[in-house]
Amino acid sequence: MKGELAEMAYESAQPVLEEEATQKTSSPVIQVENLHKTYDLGEVQVHALRGVTLAIYPGEFVAIMGASGSGKSTFMNLIGCLDRPTKGRYLLEGQDVSKHSKQELARIRNRSIGFVFQGFNLLSRTSALENVELPMIYSGVSHVDRVRRSNEALKAVGLEGREGHHPSQLSGGQQQRVAIARALVNNPSIVVADEPTGNLDSRTSVEIMEIFQRLNNERGITILLVTHEHDIAQYAKRVVVFRDGKVRRDSLVENRLEAAKVITALPAIEQDEDEEA
Ligand code: ADP
Ligand code: MG
Repeated sequence: MKGELAEMAYESAQPVLEEEATQKTSSPVIQVENLHKTYDLGEVQVHALRGVTLAIYPGEFVAIMGASGSGKSTFMNLIGCLDRPTKGRYLLEGQDVSKHSKQELARIRNRSIGFVFQGFNLLSRTSALENVELPMIYSGVSHVDRVRRSNEALKAVGLEGREGHHPSQLSGGQQQRVAIARALVNNPSIVVADEPTGNLDSRTSVEIMEIFQRLNNERGITILLVTHEHDIAQYAKRVVVFRDGKVRRDSLVENRLEAAKVITALPAIEQDEDEEA
């Protein structure tokens, strides 16, 4: 009974939130209704998502939080068109993609969505520039344009001069910058990032959040970012908390942090200082 009451209170709070959170005039860039995902493992079925309803508007910056196993990555994979829901609707930029074929999903994904992962997912024997070029190879961009756009994207994340470096010659933070550049080269309207600071020390994490905030502010890119760290979520505009495959809380960030300001207040890192665990 208590749970139901809390749910009702939550639902009645929804319209207010959306009105305050975003541009009321625009329509959602992401709209999911009663989204379910069940992994069928033969003998057991895992209900990873149990009815998620959520609207995200252009220019939002949403932190997805919740305990391990609560369905965050499953949700991000559906939003990123890497997987299809078992049940429910997903409208991406107004288009129902929930029943799209894998091929159609791949096309939309390549055009509209940039991905950033905790483990960077870079090709190790390939330069930063070539790593960033990859998504454009799939979308048929000419070599000259690929190089130009990759250089621009690397510059935008502060990696000018490192274009020829291989991942092993770059720090974790720099590798994540390469991954962000790679996510940007096809000019996506949405960037989804699953624990992008999970492998980084705290200063480097703030530097990565500065890039996300800049992309959000200057280019209006909608950002969805999974984190389990409360201080990282403070850089977002809105926090959605998952529990047991459902949305448990959805609220605006109060006292939002500005990464560019936080960085200037942090002590400079000594070159030989050990990284935080
Ligand atoms: P989170 O990212 O919040 O830790 P996940 O979305 O990864 O949660 O997982 C939600 C649930 O679904 C967990 O119980 C997990 O074990 C299960 N799960 C995730 N991916 C798969 C998969 N590919 N096959 C089977 N079960 C999965
Ligand atoms: Mg996860």
